[in-house]
Amino acid sequence: MKNITNIQKFSIHDGDGIRTTVFFKGCPLKCEWCHNPETQKFEKEMQVDREKCTGCGACAVVCPNGAIHMEEGRPILDAEACVFCGKCTRFCPTGAREVIGQEYTVKELVKELMKDQMFYEESGGGVTLSGGEVMSMDMDYLLAVAKELKRQDVTLTIDTCGFVPYEKFQELLPYVNTFLYDVKVMDPELHKKYMGTDNALILENLVRLAKDGARIYIRIPTVKEVNGNEENMKETIAFLQEHDIHPAQINLLPYHDTGSGKYRKLDMEYKGTDLHAPDKEEMEALAALFINAGYKNTKIGG
Ligand code: SF4
Ligand code: SF4
Repeated sequence: MKNITNIQKFSIHDGDGIRTTVFFKGCPLKCEWCHNPETQKFEKEMQVDREKCTGCGACAVVCPNGAIHMEEGRPILDAEACVFCGKCTRFCPTGAREVIGQEYTVKELVKELMKDQMFYEESGGGVTLSGGEVMSMDMDYLLAVAKELKRQDVTLTIDTCGFVPYEKFQELLPYVNTFLYDVKVMDPELHKKYMGTDNALILENLVRLAKDGARIYIRIPTVKEVNGNEENMKETIAFLQEHDIHPAQINLLPYHDTGSGKYRKLDMEYKGTDLHAPDKEEMEALAALFINAGYKNTKIGG
């Protein structure tokens, strides 16, 4: 699988300098606060903005596969019958419909990414592959993209949740400049509750990656009700110290719910409604724990 939902230009929060970030579709975790729900499933999806849909029925008329029927003025999709040809999106007069996920060949993707080479060179930036979970994508494809970027002197950052077999990291490591590595919560039970799986593999991979000499930015999405507390941060620090891990940067990323509106368009339920970011003083106090423990390059935000 290697569907791409978005290629975002001029990103400044996904690594060093100005970057072009590629969002791949599909993730093995199910974080309650995920702000990119369109990247959770590996398969293509149809998104409908209910506020824009006027119920005109044009999509149902033009679909060559009969995959849409109207019910009480609303288009209903038979996902089994849809082949994601995009015809209904082109005929929708209000732009309410959108196919999420597009395949690019290695050549097409690299060509698109190289359009921004000038910005990479001037800002010390490059390409970030993100998601979803980019490391869950087809490895031959990822390796081909990574090798081609390296050949063209473009630095590559990988934004990962870490929940993949370590062999994948090993294969990609020679072509990666920086890993943005999510460490969400240290308590395995809480991790399971909010992410759908425990954190054993994630932490094990982090230790191995650090031992293998990777440049790592640790990213901690910080949620008051889950991990935004002294206990979790102290446990994170103890883990880093125990395993002699020296991240190039630690980023505490305050929770935000800007992605919650996307859930409705995908007929998904947003489960993060009761979650909040710690306030400014609390965030500063949490960051100070890392700084005082010797992790001077700790920042609030990306
Ligand atoms: S993408 Fe194609 S197959 Fe799917 S509903 Fe639209 S027109 Fe039909
Ligand atoms: S064509 Fe667009 S506006 Fe018309 S019913 Fe379909 S989704 Fe709604």
